[in-house]
Amino acid sequence: MRLIFMGPPGAGKGTQAGRITAEYNYLHLSTGDILRAHRKKGTELGQQAQSYMAAGELVPDDLILKMVAAEFERPEIENGFILDGFPRTVAQADALDEVLKETGKTLDFVLVMDVPDEELVARLTARRTCRTCGRSYHLTFNPPKTPGVCDVDGGELYQRDDDKETTVRNRLAVYMRQTQPLIEHYTKQGLVRHIDGVGSVDEVFSRIRKVLESHSHTD
Ligand code: ADP
Ligand code: ADP
Repeated sequence: MRLIFMGPPGAGKGTQAGRITAEYNYLHLSTGDILRAHRKKGTELGQQAQSYMAAGELVPDDLILKMVAAEFERPEIENGFILDGFPRTVAQADALDEVLKETGKTLDFVLVMDVPDEELVARLTARRTCRTCGRSYHLTFNPPKTPGVCDVDGGELYQRDDDKETTVRNRLAVYMRQTQPLIEHYTKQGLVRHIDGVGSVDEVFSRIRKVLESHSHTD
């Protein structure tokens, strides 16, 4: 299965992608996680991306497209993939269409996770992220078993610098302006399925699973 997870920051894309990859063997490609790994390693890309990420603005398309092209070379991509946080602009979506065409691949679904703005702000401002694996938690909605420690790998949980309220509000505005128009792009291709993202993580997961199972014969 080849999927795109779309939805505003805080909609639960990373959380749900983690649930799916725990069950199905798809490659989870989160451009945000890949960029944070570059920042941590101090690569040139990490340094170029830093100021955009800190301000909640998008990293320029040429940098993102080069980075994603490298990911598409990975052999695991053949098992199926979930794109999480990519594409985010019309230029990125056009480039992805091109790569898929060249490699003879098609997308199965674009899942758009819908969550109201005030809930997004509440989710993001109390989000905590594992330094090692990038998995996200929430201080009250989805707490780790031990405060400050990742359930899965014991990594330290931290607050992302772009999860402060003013940056969060800018990220939501950037989403509305630059990414939301892509829903129309994929609606025209007949790929969009809206998922109600409000409810427990399990409830949302079962809504997603229903959509995937409606189509599993092409797996
Ligand atoms: P995204 O990848 O779309 O930005 P995340 O998966 O990181 O979103 O989730 C954002 C925040 O909301 C995290 O703190 C996460 O623990 C929390 N969260 C995820 N799913 C839910 C849910 N269904 N209900 C409440 N909080 C959630
Ligand atoms: P969230 O999961 O909360 O939506 P991400 O981790 O996906 O946030 O993204 C964090 C930041 O990384 C974005 O605000 C942006 O600066 C940058 N970024 C991630 N993916 C892309 C992309 N596809 N295009 C441009 N910038 C991106």
